[in-house]
Amino acid sequence: PSPLGPQPKLVIDLERLAQLPKEKAGALARYAATIQSQRGDYNGKVLSIRQEDLRSLAVIYDKSPTELTEELITWGVLDAEARRAVESF
Ligand code: C2E
Ligand code: C2E
Ligand code: C2E
Repeated sequence: PSPLGPQPKLVIDLERLAQLPKEKAGALARYAATIQSQRGDYNGKVLSIRQEDLRSLAVIYDKSPTELTEELITWGVLDAEARRAVESF
């Protein structure tokens, strides 16, 4: 276990995501909507996603998981805690 506590989660800010231009955030928005639909989880302001899903999203965005995480933090879709979630990749 990490001395900083439990494994940090990847938590998508769905309200922020909805404010971003489609050219940037469209693929992530569709991915998040698919997960919400699979879970039947429609009313959340945030969505916790699998580490594995960030790997898939990195392929979609043609970036490394670390690069994509930094971009999503810049957009305000992930918080800075997400960096620690990706360190373990
Ligand atoms: P599944 O992967 O066969 O998971 C079946 C059920 O196990 C999930 O039902 C959930 O109750 C539980 N489960 C599996 N992994 C986790 C986990 O890491 N954390 C928690 N809290 N529960 C877990 P649920 O939520 O109704 O999801 C149904 C199906 O939807 C899943 O079947 C999976 O195929 C898909 N799904 C849901 N959320 C995600 C996601 O974040 N990423 C991916 N790749 N698929 C997801
Ligand atoms: P947490 O993980 O820190 O989540 C805090 C709150 O963020 C949750 O309160 C919920 O309002 C929101 N949230 C986080 N991820 C999601 C998501 O994927 N979908 C939606 N709709 N909301 C999300 P909530 O539901 O009262 O849960 C309180 C705490 O209970 C969570 O704190 C967590 O510690 C635990 N918990 C709830 N669901 C799960 C779960 O599926 N797996 C695990 N391991 N813990 C859970
Ligand atoms: P969580 O529920 O607190 O789960 C933390 C980690 O425990 C998961 O990280 C995964 O490595 C493991 N885990 C929990 N439940 C299961 C399970 O049923 N099967 C397996 N194989 N592993 C499990 P991960 O995958 O990175 O997921 C992070 C968070 O994303 C989860 O935190 C949960 O909030 C959400 N999540 C992921 N998959 C699902 C899903 O299928 N359904 C729902 N409702 N939430 C999910």
